[in-house]
Amino acid sequence: MLETLRHIVQEVNAAEGLDDALDIIVRRVREAMGTEVCSVYMRDANTGRYVFRATEGLNEEQVGIASLAAGEGLVGLVAEREEPVNLENAENHPSFQFLPDIGEERYHAFLGVPIIHQRDVLGVLVVQQAHRRRFDESDEAFLVTMSAQLAGVIAHAQVTGAVQEDISPGEGAPAKIGGVPGAPGIAIGTAVVVSPIADLYAVPQRQAEDRRQELRAFREALQSVTRDVQAVADNLGSQLSPEDHALFDVYLGILDDSAIGAEVVGLIRAGQWAQGALSQVMIEHIRHFERMEHSYLKERAVDVKDLGTRVLAYLQEADKEERSFPDQTILVGEELTASSLGEIPREKLAGLISVRGSGNSHVAILARAMGVPTVMGAVDLPYTRLQDREVVIDGYNGTVHLNPLPEVKQRFQEVLDEDLALTLDLESLRDLPCETLDGHRMPLWVNTGLMADVTRSLEQGAEGVGLYRTEIPFLLRDRFPSEEEQRQIYRNQLEAFAPRPVTMRTLDIGGDKSLPYFPIEEDNPFLGWRGIRVTLDHPEIFLAQIRAMLKANEGLNNLRIMLPMVCNVPELEEAMELIHRSHREVVQEGVEGELPPIGVMVEVPAAVYQARALARRVDFMSVGSNDLTQYLLAVDRNNARVADLYHSLHPAVLQALAAVAEASREENVPIGICGELAGDPEGAVLLLAMGYDVLSMNATSLPKVKKALRNVHLGEARDLLEEVMSLDRAGEVHQHLERFLTEHGMEKFIHNPVE
Ligand code: PEP
Ligand code: MG
Repeated sequence: MLETLRHIVQEVNAAEGLDDALDIIVRRVREAMGTEVCSVYMRDANTGRYVFRATEGLNEEQVGIASLAAGEGLVGLVAEREEPVNLENAENHPSFQFLPDIGEERYHAFLGVPIIHQRDVLGVLVVQQAHRRRFDESDEAFLVTMSAQLAGVIAHAQVTGAVQEDISPGEGAPAKIGGVPGAPGIAIGTAVVVSPIADLYAVPQRQAEDRRQELRAFREALQSVTRDVQAVADNLGSQLSPEDHALFDVYLGILDDSAIGAEVVGLIRAGQWAQGALSQVMIEHIRHFERMEHSYLKERAVDVKDLGTRVLAYLQEADKEERSFPDQTILVGEELTASSLGEIPREKLAGLISVRGSGNSHVAILARAMGVPTVMGAVDLPYTRLQDREVVIDGYNGTVHLNPLPEVKQRFQEVLDEDLALTLDLESLRDLPCETLDGHRMPLWVNTGLMADVTRSLEQGAEGVGLYRTEIPFLLRDRFPSEEEQRQIYRNQLEAFAPRPVTMRTLDIGGDKSLPYFPIEEDNPFLGWRGIRVTLDHPEIFLAQIRAMLKANEGLNNLRIMLPMVCNVPELEEAMELIHRSHREVVQEGVEGELPPIGVMVEVPAAVYQARALARRVDFMSVGSNDLTQYLLAVDRNNARVADLYHSLHPAVLQALAAVAEASREENVPIGICGELAGDPEGAVLLLAMGYDVLSMNATSLPKVKKALRNVHLGEARDLLEEVMSLDRAGEVHQHLERFLTEHGMEKFIHNPVE
């Protein structure tokens, strides 16, 4: 069964669009189950009716014509109940509804299962037989499994249809693809697809702008690969027998002009760009070899893939050198990373879409810092087909719109204009203090990582840096930066903000932040080797970093050092011991400066329960609510599938935040927060009431939070906190806070879906 399932899913995956996918499904399911009829009914988004969309065995002329409302007929019943209906004799069932002309009179046995994707009933898959019998349990299990596996593929195919190759950009049916909010804001722009390095399966499809140029690029890439392979063969020359040597010729022969190479050239001549032509031809040949029975031939698939990948790498290299970005670029990729953001000039970048990842992935955090509207986890987006298409993204609600209707686009444009007006309005707050109506001061600091953040932060009126993510400069390199390189980077940060305090967090890698030159591969990375665990295991990395920070601080004295992911007291003590040691060393070397304040992040539940024990040993505490939420709620912050369970206002999270504030107060240690919650006006009001001493956030959020806090009295915020702390659900907390903001004239900070 597994094999059959796998084959069907693979075939459907390769379909050109929805109709093609559904035709494959009905044909292959009927075959696999040995039934007489297999049909699919799909829900029409506009009418809500289940339309007869594909069949094997019934009247094909009725496809696209016959339909049933939800709850109507057996198909409607399956959809409404969201469970299988298995009947020996369909027409005896009270819900049975006769559909004239589809030709099902002869068929008595009926088995229908819903097709559900992300809680949404997309349609119903039905098999029928003339013989009066109940389908047995294994039939039912097969169809249910089939439908569960196909749901995602169907959802994907639905969107793919909207961007079929034969539809030119700007045409095609409107499609809305759900993802999760990454960074707030609306963007309307042109998609530029970034593909992972040398991945034949992720090459964007597009037409060649200049065929001769593409042909030349392909030939040059081929020559480079031939040279490389030849060089390997020559190096091994003396160790190889002539027969072995001949293998290299066979290997290179694959790309010969008379073989695969010729096919690629043919596609380029027909109008494809070189990378697209190469990937299409290579994938076909890889599939062909993989299907072969003979193991020697089967293994040739590996050679073909290897050669194709090498040629692609050269093509990408050449393309990168020539690449130019349109105005209002919307960068789209399977998994965008911090370094992909570095490739495009900021003034050209309007938005980001990542197929993988979630709102708390680090690329989303960076996007928020840069103020770039972003949608994450758009899993159904056929992203390789989007190159040069107009795309609208709604970073508030996490949706991507393709081919939007003019009125929808107009509405987005209005929201965009309103946002701009709000930003201008907030600029006037820049030099005003963040102070409640009754005079309580709340310092607003920023989270930084890129040099670009510095100017933005100062422009927004930041009073300090609550979190400098030192891993970001590490992520943007191809090796560990030396102590001296680090010193310069840190010096720039410290100098830019001096005399304001700058809190530098020691290297926090692992989880979703892996350095290309120091890969950490684990099944469960967020529970694995992360943050302080890595650096304590590699004291040479930790010590070099601390020394660089201390040296950079000379003469400025605005450095604070912060430790991430601490789970127990010994980790903290060990790290502090290393910091003290580094300090003694650099002082001996002649560097002047006091030991800077040392703080600890509260990011795991263990640290919440041990907050007092930790606080007693440090100069300041800072809650990393992004990780704390993920660990308290057991929701991977990077996984779009569970993104709707990641509630930063979950009552358990609020209890933890209040408990940490209380513990720090008891130990007389200042408490701050540097997770994303601090930058949310709703969260900020509660944190104020809980007694947080500093809120540190991305620069973009700072003016909004300032505006919110300048509009409230501390007493009111405390009353509000008391109310929400008695609530049991995150949704209720959110509603209370929305009401509060509205009553205080801040409804502009609440975003409702555009449609
Ligand atoms: C956090 O976890 O809240 C935090 C600030 O750290 P990061 O987002 O970099 O993991
Ligand atoms: Mg963290």
